[in-house]
Amino acid sequence: MHHLADLDPDIAKTLAAEAERQHRNLELIASENFVSEAVLEALGSVLTNKYAEGYPGRRYYGGCEVVDVAEELAIGRARELFGAEHANVQPHSGAQANMAVYFTVLKPGDVVLGPNLSHGGHLTAGSPVNYSGKFYTIVPYGVRRDTERIDLDQVRDLARQHRPKLIIAGGSAFPRAIDFQPFGEVAREVGATLMADIAHPAGLVAAGLHPSPVGIADFVTTTTHKTLRGPRGGMVMCRAAHAQALDRTVMPGVQGGPLMHAIAAKAVAFREALTPAFKDYQRQIVANARALGDALQARGFRLVSGGTDTHLLLVDVSPRGMTGKDAQDALDRAWITVNKNTIPFDTKGPMVTSGVRLGTPALTTRGMRETEMVEIARLIDRVLANLGSAAVEAAVRGEVQELTNRFPLYVERHKGGVR
Ligand SMILES: *Cc1c(COP(=O)(O)O)cnc(C)c1O
Repeated sequence: MHHLADLDPDIAKTLAAEAERQHRNLELIASENFVSEAVLEALGSVLTNKYAEGYPGRRYYGGCEVVDVAEELAIGRARELFGAEHANVQPHSGAQANMAVYFTVLKPGDVVLGPNLSHGGHLTAGSPVNYSGKFYTIVPYGVRRDTERIDLDQVRDLARQHRPKLIIAGGSAFPRAIDFQPFGEVAREVGATLMADIAHPAGLVAAGLHPSPVGIADFVTTTTHKTLRGPRGGMVMCRAAHAQALDRTVMPGVQGGPLMHAIAAKAVAFREALTPAFKDYQRQIVANARALGDALQARGFRLVSGGTDTHLLLVDVSPRGMTGKDAQDALDRAWITVNKNTIPFDTKGPMVTSGVRLGTPALTTRGMRETEMVEIARLIDRVLANLGSAAVEAAVRGEVQELTNRFPLYVERHKGGVR
């Protein structure tokens, strides 16, 4: 066997450089997190070698008796974690989890009522450049102009008017908790299927810190790599009545062989998520988001909807006379990683935007708490108050490095190369 450093020094160097970047920077992208060494170990395992089309006990290939155990563990733990009747852990990503539900319940051209992309909805909720927008007739709902929270009256009115086959609740940039109950009532009234996409708050849902759609929505989709802190991947949960149809859609409907190494890593992450320590972690994520939001507001920043109930914040930077792109680029140069994001009723497009989205899951994994969030708000303010100043950016880089050095991450990986 050859080690990576000998076989492919270029990629070995790249992996070490990325480990170093992740250690050095302040990671505030709301959809990112840092998995445990145990999850990395499962991901980098021999399970990647195995073809296992089908499901535990019903595979198209021989030799699946060992990987069956991994998948059964992942399914059992997912069901326990969320209280779901059925879980399919094979979707390769959140986008494919959503595709599986679309293909299970819809025919091309059917009407889907989903969250407006520029109000916080995800690409897979009907973007014209995504399969969802190409195959289906999308009716978008949004947030109210005054509260910047989901307009449930509009959801009900549009549902009555357009009679959608599928209603989607959940998105990528809603700082506020989503109450799934009224969505369930509307779906029942118009005879629609309800899909809750909890890709972002899944960890909070698992910890009981965000309303759960399980028992309300017909299908619940999620990623496993955001607040849930597992490997990159997706999952669909549903009532037992839909289980067979869903499983058939995932495979052979939209996927071939499952990624068994990723499924084993999902099982590891779900085991971690079932511990009391994970609940504490999720509580700290929310406390940190609040502290960061309060500190930014104290420095004069405007938060969309006035705050957060979750792990993420949407900051309107337009009153500071800049675009989201300006802000992202300047913060990037200061080693503070964020993403530009449209805000509700944005007048700028998705490549420019008026906002930045900030999230606390990754920094909370590193052990940072409220004190550090106040520091980070100061650093963000300093960079943005001196937009384009190379001297300020350099000074902040120094402060960032000091801060992140106090919360080491994957040290072995960047110090000694790979492992
Ligand atoms: C991140 C996300 C997805 C897609 O996940 P990928 O793994 O990137 O495909 C789907 N829905 C929502 C709401 C998301 O935030």
